[in-house]
Amino acid sequence: MTYEAIIGLEVHAQLLTKTKIFCGCSTEFGAPPNTHTCPVCLGMPGVLPVLNRKVVDYTIRMALATNCTIARESRFARKNYFYPDLPKGYQISQYELPIAEHGHVFIEVNGKRSRIGITRIHMEEDAGKLIHYPYRPVSVVDFNRTGVPLIEIVSEPDMRTPEEAGAYLRQLRAILRYLEICDGNMEEGSFRCDANVSVRPAGTNTFGTRTELKNINSFKHVENALAYEIRRQEAVIEDGGKVVQETRLWDPAKGVSVSMRGKEEAHDYRYFPDPDLLPLVIDEGWVEEIRSTLPELPDAKKARFIQDYGLPSYDAGVLTSSRALADYFEACAKLFPEPKTVSNWIMGSLLAILKAENRTIEESPVSPERLAELLRLIDSGVISGKIAKTVFDEVASSGKAPETIIREKGLVQITDAKAITEVVKRVLTEHPKEVSAYRGGKTKVFGFFVGQVMKATGGNANPKTVNEILKGMLQG
Ligand code: ADP
Ligand code: MG
Ligand code: ZN
Repeated sequence: MTYEAIIGLEVHAQLLTKTKIFCGCSTEFGAPPNTHTCPVCLGMPGVLPVLNRKVVDYTIRMALATNCTIARESRFARKNYFYPDLPKGYQISQYELPIAEHGHVFIEVNGKRSRIGITRIHMEEDAGKLIHYPYRPVSVVDFNRTGVPLIEIVSEPDMRTPEEAGAYLRQLRAILRYLEICDGNMEEGSFRCDANVSVRPAGTNTFGTRTELKNINSFKHVENALAYEIRRQEAVIEDGGKVVQETRLWDPAKGVSVSMRGKEEAHDYRYFPDPDLLPLVIDEGWVEEIRSTLPELPDAKKARFIQDYGLPSYDAGVLTSSRALADYFEACAKLFPEPKTVSNWIMGSLLAILKAENRTIEESPVSPERLAELLRLIDSGVISGKIAKTVFDEVASSGKAPETIIREKGLVQITDAKAITEVVKRVLTEHPKEVSAYRGGKTKVFGFFVGQVMKATGGNANPKTVNEILKGMLQG
């Protein structure tokens, strides 16, 4: 029997507001424990929450960017549960009337484009952070994160493979970053994901029982955790068992998921509208004002890169994966208007260096101007493409201009036909045996001559000129 997996993701994104969602405390990361707190976010009796307008602005931005319908009126609700990182005993979230619904984004995996529905987006507050001491039976709590604004983005069960789930997550993160409302850092927890997955026999229409995977803190883990869980569920069914609806914890070190608890139902939380907060009313004017400030989004930018620069879809996808990378490309392509050449250098040499040095494009050691200078030097024949790679690495490590490096290291390409002819003559005189072999029909030795000439010129001769002159003289 073959199976098909069904995947739906719940994503929590921390919003980059300066202050918390219901009080004026700072959201800054890394402050000493419990210094960014006040009676409101500590849940003292009698305090009243006041909604941060920026949180609504940012959520509307994301809702518009993901094609959602924005509710004229939405409500905050209390989600009741006990946990030591939740001082009020409830989390303020949205339940029955979320701010946005019925959206979608597009993803592309191996050239196949799919539409992934977004069920809803709602606003809520984050909980505090529990820290467990490894060698003492003690845990402490830091409430700095309590009340930091989150949006939860719930997808439809529209994904079928772990790769699609990964692509969807990357797409959401790219959009959040383009909008500059979330830093998207999965390792640091500002972009978190719970993955719901079930399997069913291929060709059937009803959904199987799902499990929910928690504790996934990298893109690689999402795909690995889902692949493992799909295999596990298939094995359960093959053995004649039934998948149990439950929450499971992904253990990246062991590469397995383990049962954490039975799945809670919504009614377990005793949701009810928060009486301390008024219904949130959003008029058309507010939405339109925000719509007018939206940047060009990843999909639109990618389409434009294909259309205007004639780039392959793959290149356009890589270059528009972040706004800063796209800007880098455009700055360089403006100075050196051969887009595919620029793209090749960015996707090859530049991204390799950034990856090796663990830097972002904003921290690139080679500016678009420097890269354009280098490309012009290749174009005008001053250096060969091969030497340019060396020069590129030098620009990156020294910060010097390509021309300076070429001059200092004597890397200028020899294109002067007279100079090359001299070298060729010498090489041919020094290797009479090979010359007669060539003239006797063993044309394979041609490569040997090229090698000798390049060696004699320290690799600096223009290969095209060398080829032409060699051919001429060997025939003559
Ligand atoms: P909660 O997990 O909080 O109860 P929901 O009921 O809204 O929330 O569902 C959460 C996620 O589970 C959604 O992303 C949805 O697409 C996904 N989902 C629902 N049913 C299935 C299923 N049978 N298989 C896989 N995913 C599912
Ligand atoms: Mg869930
Ligand atoms: Zn506070």
